Amino acid sequence: MRTIYADNAATTAVSEKALAAMLPHFRESFGNPSALYDCGQEAKKALEASRRAIAGCIGALGTEIYFTSGGTESDNWAIFGACHARRERGRHIISTEIEHSAVLRPLDKMRDRGYEVTLLKPDKNGLVTPGQLEDAIRSDTILVSIMTANNVVGTVMPIRELCETARRRRVIFHTDAVQAAGHIPINVRELGVDLLSLSAHKFHGPKGVGALFVRLALKPEPYIVGGGQEKGYRSGTENVPGAAGMAAALLERAENMRAETERLAAMRDRLIENTLKIPGVYLTGSPDKRLPGHASFVIEGGRDSAHLINMLNEEGICASSGSACSASSKEAPHVLTALGCDENTARGALRISLSPYNTEEEIEIIGEKLPRLIGQFRSRREQKILRASARR
Ligand code: PLP
Repeated sequence: MRTIYADNAATTAVSEKALAAMLPHFRESFGNPSALYDCGQEAKKALEASRRAIAGCIGALGTEIYFTSGGTESDNWAIFGACHARRERGRHIISTEIEHSAVLRPLDKMRDRGYEVTLLKPDKNGLVTPGQLEDAIRSDTILVSIMTANNVVGTVMPIRELCETARRRRVIFHTDAVQAAGHIPINVRELGVDLLSLSAHKFHGPKGVGALFVRLALKPEPYIVGGGQEKGYRSGTENVPGAAGMAAALLERAENMRAETERLAAMRDRLIENTLKIPGVYLTGSPDKRLPGHASFVIEGGRDSAHLINMLNEEGICASSGSACSASSKEAPHVLTALGCDENTARGALRISLSPYNTEEEIEIIGEKLPRLIGQFRSRREQKILRASARR
């Protein structure tokens, strides 16, 4: 049976170009970029070329890009680093209720250290407004962290407008662009952000490598100390193959973005149209301000959609119940409850996230199979309830 991979918000396949860019750095020019001999210097050149290429894709300078181990590290560093840099100015941070745990958990840590954190409540589509942000900013606010696009519902936030609000009040603005980069245009100057997190495996690059954009004027606290790599801000021997793969993947996405976006949005809209014909299935997130390949739903009366995900898997379809991190948890996704879903409905979430490698034919196959599988999923659930009440 052929597998249809439709969980690209969780991770993506490494592209041919990204793989080809990585391979030489495992065996041929494998040297340590800090070493002075030729193969070390070749690795250093490749690392710096990758940095410049990534910078070029997001309107930054090469000197503003720091390589990390992925989105989680970039988010952690952005939050801890910015708070440290502005520690004399205040102890208030603003974020949203629907951030990824890579932002929410560092914010918990800051609370433990005596900081106050205000989490903005988004509307039912997952959007927060500049007006909400303006009202929340205080004289002691030092950092705003708002994601560019949400991983569970695909909503794209008005980052430029939010950032303008923060800048008027001279507050540092960080955005977690892990789900957005490579999928929608990102330009750090046009957005006006100070810090921006990236992760390669979300745009057909390798896992375990990411980057943090740090606006030149900002000096966050070094995050990992040791040998002084990355200008002393992030020590550890650099992941040269990872950086090369990340740069190649991001360049590829940037080059093809216009055509890919059109095709992906058409497939996504067809998928949404088909799925919403199933009674009791509702779209989550914004109908129009959403990532081009992202479709997300809740199934009324569904509860625990892990069963549905297993049923889809048996039919060769890889989809998700929300975020990859909460896939095995029995907890309702915090994003959906923040958008107003009750806990039971939030547990019945289904996310189908596409990539340029998906085909129109696959969308039709998903569209044919879903009504039957959702029907079976519901009746399984009903039978389980009946059996439980018979036992009582
Ligand atoms: N931020 C968002 C919005 C994400 O979706 C993810 C991963 O799912 C992360 C951060 C963490 O990225 P990584 O898996 O590279 O650590």
